[in-house]
Order: sequence, then structure tokens, then C-alpha cells
Amino acid sequence: MVKKVFLYFILFTGIILSQKLPENIIILIGDGMGLDYVTANIVSDKDNPFVKFTSIGLSLTSSAKNLITDSGAGATALSTGYRSYNHAIGVDTLQKPLLNLLELAERSGKNSGVIATGSVTDATPASFLAHVADRQYETEIARQTYYGDADVVIGGGRSFFSSAGKGGRQIETIDYIDSMKNRGYNYFEDLKNLRNIKPDKPLFILLENKGLKPAGERDYGLADMVSAALNYFTLSKKGFVLMVEGSQIDWAAHDNKTSQMLKEIDDFTEAVNTALDFAGKNKNTLVIVTSDHETGGGSLNGGNLDGTDLDIEFNTTGHTAGMVGIFAKGPGEENFRCIMPNNYIARKLFRLLDPGYKFH
Ligand SMILES: [Zn+2]
Repeated sequence: MVKKVFLYFILFTGIILSQKLPENIIILIGDGMGLDYVTANIVSDKDNPFVKFTSIGLSLTSSAKNLITDSGAGATALSTGYRSYNHAIGVDTLQKPLLNLLELAERSGKNSGVIATGSVTDATPASFLAHVADRQYETEIARQTYYGDADVVIGGGRSFFSSAGKGGRQIETIDYIDSMKNRGYNYFEDLKNLRNIKPDKPLFILLENKGLKPAGERDYGLADMVSAALNYFTLSKKGFVLMVEGSQIDWAAHDNKTSQMLKEIDDFTEAVNTALDFAGKNKNTLVIVTSDHETGGGSLNGGNLDGTDLDIEFNTTGHTAGMVGIFAKGPGEENFRCIMPNNYIARKLFRLLDPGYKFH
């Protein structure tokens, strides 16, 4: 018996040690991006990134207590490896904080970052930056983001960091934007003049007071935001974990607006291409694309073979329990070739960062 256990131990550690571990991980989350929406992108966009991935799986997106998740529990599963209750942000079902992927990266001496086209205090990015009992506590999420270890934060949500006197949501005496400037952070409010970046100080780019303008109405794309982060990490040279969210795919799907949703997915997929280009030059980079859940119950009901005039019919203005895709490429990609509960995506990423990491 002891011999057998020993043999299994050797085999198990052998498998773990023989795995190539990534130096960098980029996880891109298309919020609400169901499989029919991915299909629409594949048939209509010759430069779509999805066909470039070499390991594909499917994620079951339920939360701990509900078949249909919200973005809080969905992102908490992806950031911590644990399913929690709807509206939870980085906490378990008893509201206790859970270590997240970015915190694990920092613990391993790497850089970490979060990018979103919504406010960075919204549910998905918040689950990688903070620990609160409910997603609505956005000023507290901003506070924890300021005091946290993330090196790169790019997106909307400036008002949650600034004081009431300046039109923000924090109380009069607190202004985290002033504090960032005073502490010598790389702080910017646009992407045009990113000069003199100091890689030993965090990079915060807060582009709007709340969410960004919709895709197609901005003079920059999510890909430009990702490039800014990758430039910072290249200067810093520590290795990194970066989460990128295409936040407004979900918003357009909630509104059942097909053409805007497809624009948001185009904006998102350009960012995926930027990540894949970086990984092409930096082979120790794992790129993984998934969604926190499907939104809209949309099915691709009509259109032309060349991808023009696509018609998506929605059957809800909420989320559904439909499985979403997992697309992986890079060291460790073989872990994602199966159907798995959403939280196992994070568990596998944790183990790729720290092979000995134990979940309770
Ligand atoms: Zn949603």
C-alpha cells in the first residue's frame, strides 16, 4: 500500500514537473460572450483569433447557489477557483476573502494587471482586484484597488476613486487620484501621452468617470489598452498575470442589440489578437480566452455564408446557463481541453503559477 501511494506520488509530481509552466498569463474574458456570438465572429471576420487557438474546452458557468450566474460570482469563480453566491466579489459563500489569481502572481514575484471597457470597479474586474460582499460597493472596491498590489489598472471608473468635491463618489477628504499622483504613480486619463513610464510604480489609466464609450465611438480600442499594459510589463521584466475584460459585449446583449454586440466582440477580438501577437514573440506566455456566462440567449438565426447580414435572435434580456468556450494557447494549454466548471479554469491557472498550491 505504502509503495503504491509512493508510486502515485512520484507519477503525480512527475506530471506536474514535466509540465512547462508559463512565465506570463493573459486571461481575456468576453463578458456574456456565448458560443453563437463567437460563431458570428468566426464567420464574419477573417482575422478572428478563435481559430488560432490550439486547445479548446467548454465552461459550465453556474454559481454556488444558482444555475444562472451573475458577473460577480462568474468572475469570482474565474479569479479565485471557488464558486460563490451571485453578486459576490472575491469572497466565498460565507463572505470570507479568497486569494485571487493576481494576488498569487504578486506573491510569486510577478506583476499583475486588470483592464476593462467598463468601470474597473464593475463586477468582473473587481473580482480580480478586491474582496467585498456585494458588487454594488464600488467605492470600497476602488479603495481596495488603490491599496492593493495590482501594477496595471486600465479602464473606466475614475469617479469611484475621486472625492465628492471633485464630482467623485469618495467622501470629501479622500481622493485616491491625488494620492496616486502624490506617490509618483504612472497616472493617466488617456492613452495618447504615455511617456516616462516608471516600471517600479503602478500604471493607472482611468479613461472615463464610469464605463468607456461603446466600441466604435472611441478613438482607441481595447487592443490599445492591452498594448499599454504589455509595454509596461515588457519594461518591468518580472513576468505577469493580466486579466482583460470586453465588458460591454454583455451590455449590448442585455439590450438585445445585435450590431453593437458584434462591434464589441470585434473590439475584444482585436485585443485577443494583440495578446496572441505578444505570445508569438514571448513563447512563455499562456493566452486564454473565455466568458463568465452567456447573455441574451442569442442564436445565430440567419445571414449569409460570407458573414454579412447576420441575424441574432435573443430570447432574454438576462443571462443564461449555456456553456461558453475556453480557448487556450501557450505553455499549459493542454489543461483546458475538456468540459469543466468555471472555477476549475482558475484552479488550473493557480497550479500553473504555483504547482504546489492547495485548495481547501
Ligand atoms: Zn450581464
